[in-house]
Amino acid sequence: MKRPKLLETVLRNLVSKPATIQYPREKTTIEPDFRGIQYADLSKCTGCSLCSIECPADAIKMTPIPQEYAVPKINPRRLYPLINYGKCVYCYRCVKVCPVNAYIVTSKYDIAGPTRYTSEDLSLKTLKEVKSQ
Ligand code: SF4
Ligand code: SF4
Repeated sequence: MKRPKLLETVLRNLVSKPATIQYPREKTTIEPDFRGIQYADLSKCTGCSLCSIECPADAIKMTPIPQEYAVPKINPRRLYPLINYGKCVYCYRCVKVCPVNAYIVTSKYDIAGPTRYTSEDLSLKTLKEVKSQ
């Protein structure tokens, strides 16, 4: 690069906006069809296991619903799909195959952290807790 060209580039960059953003202080723009984390609404889920069987990343483990939750009669086995977001590839196959449209999709993506992140809390929040007597 010739000197005058280099000087021109330096001066231009000094006054231009940065190409990067200060993530996570500054949030990134999310496209409307972005695939973020998804979880099953257990008021609709029948515990059929289809999403778990179809998952190409083996990220869904059918898991017993804890006793303190009231489970709808449509789910006699009291099982729910627990998603390990660390294994998920966000193909949304589970969302598409669910026969009762139980999946809730979100645009949340900032899930990195020191602990294993799963759909447990999100899914269990869709059920009512049974009051202890
Ligand atoms: S989005 Fe794809 S990889 Fe992730 S849990 Fe669903 S089926 Fe599995
Ligand atoms: S496919 Fe739907 S109904 Fe069946 S276990 Fe998965 S979320 Fe529940």
